[in-house]
Amino acid sequence: MGRLHGKTLLITAAAQGIGRASALACAREGAQVFATDIAADGLATLAGTAGIQTHRLDVRDPAAITALAAALPPLDGLFNCAGYVHHGTVLDCDDAAWEFSFDLNVKSMHRVLRAFLPGMLAKSAREQTSASVLNMASMASSIKGFPNRYAYGATKAAVIGLTKAVAADFVKQGLRCNALCPGTVDTPSLRQRIAAAADPVQAEKDFIARQPLGRLATVDDITPQVVYLLSDESRFVTGQAVLVDGGVTI
Ligand code: NAD
Repeated sequence: MGRLHGKTLLITAAAQGIGRASALACAREGAQVFATDIAADGLATLAGTAGIQTHRLDVRDPAAITALAAALPPLDGLFNCAGYVHHGTVLDCDDAAWEFSFDLNVKSMHRVLRAFLPGMLAKSAREQTSASVLNMASMASSIKGFPNRYAYGATKAAVIGLTKAVAADFVKQGLRCNALCPGTVDTPSLRQRIAAAADPVQAEKDFIARQPLGRLATVDDITPQVVYLLSDESRFVTGQAVLVDGGVTI
């Protein structure tokens, strides 16, 4: 029997990268996964996968989030994965860039939690099960500062604070909440950031150089932690910022 057998999960930003790999890994472990993303074409690559149902969802659209929460059965697990990297220092970040980063990386989680948490709490109380929320942060956050990650690091630090607050508020009601803090992961958006650099070859070398293990993470280095944190195996783990960083913070 799979490690997520019987669990109903929702994942945001599941069309590519860590979110997509997580949807596939969770479905392989027996979960019913609602894989959501703003990109319908990316979601189409998951169509027909056993255990996965896709729904287009823009996490910046409050009405769409509320409507989806009303349409779906109550969840056992939620992976708020959507996020965006603003490249630059404070001097490169005008108010619009700051607000966009916080809207997509943090306020989206607030919206999704407000919409889905009541159903999760009611289900865990009714069925005496453990519900789990996982929020995507990063090692670039309150954990460690990196150059040109001004808005990004601020948003991901906020995700860790939000996570700990939710964990504290619902610890007695069967709901756990953790944050995931990966190192540098080889995903489509990382490839875009490398391609957009003035010297892409050097940019890739620099990303690898900051990983003491000597390579970028693959999405499959990250998904085992996602499965664990959404499963009952992590039933005594809550309020944590869990690093999967290839040794950056040794
Ligand atoms: P990615 O950046 O390649 O893909 C992001 C996905 O988010 C895309 O499918 C995109 O369509 C979707 N998306 C964008 N705006 C959206 C919106 N408004 N509503 C719904 N979906 C939207 O994927 P990734 O690199 O795996 O990153 C996923 C998460 O992991 C992000 O939160 C990112 O900050 C975090 N993260 C990534 C790395 C890394 O090195 N790749 C490291 C640490 C943390």
